[in-house]
Amino acid sequence: MSKNCLFCKIAKGEIPSYKIYEDEKIFAFKDINPQAPIHILIIPKKHIVGLDTVSEEDEKILGNVQIVMSKIAKQFPEMKNGFRIVNNCGADGGQTVLHIHYHLLGGRVFSWPPG
Ligand code: AMP
Ligand code: ZN
Repeated sequence: MSKNCLFCKIAKGEIPSYKIYEDEKIFAFKDINPQAPIHILIIPKKHIVGLDTVSEEDEKILGNVQIVMSKIAKQFPEMKNGFRIVNNCGADGGQTVLHIHYHLLGGRVFSWPPG
């Protein structure tokens, strides 16, 4: 837990969110400013700043995050034909909240390359 971190507070229930999934180590909730019909954020409860600061000890939790994202996607018929996972990292990657999070986007067709 990092004291002034928005996503740590959401994971602890100190700031309200629309919860989609929770287990001992992972929390998922709807993005407040959705960029697709389905837009869910998946975070480890552990305060990790970003993909540029992970270490070997995060291997298991980051692996579990991927399994959870797959399970969540399966629950939504809108994502039966696919979905997109996004991780914005650092200033150039467009990261605005400094607690690692993965965007699960679905319910429409996405273009490539991204903007
Ligand atoms: P990023 O730009 O990759 O750091 O993504 C941060 C995301 O957090 C954005 O998509 C925001 O819309 C979302 N966000 C910010 N505050 C909240 C909040 N209180 N509840 C849910 N999502 C939020
Ligand atoms: Zn945090």
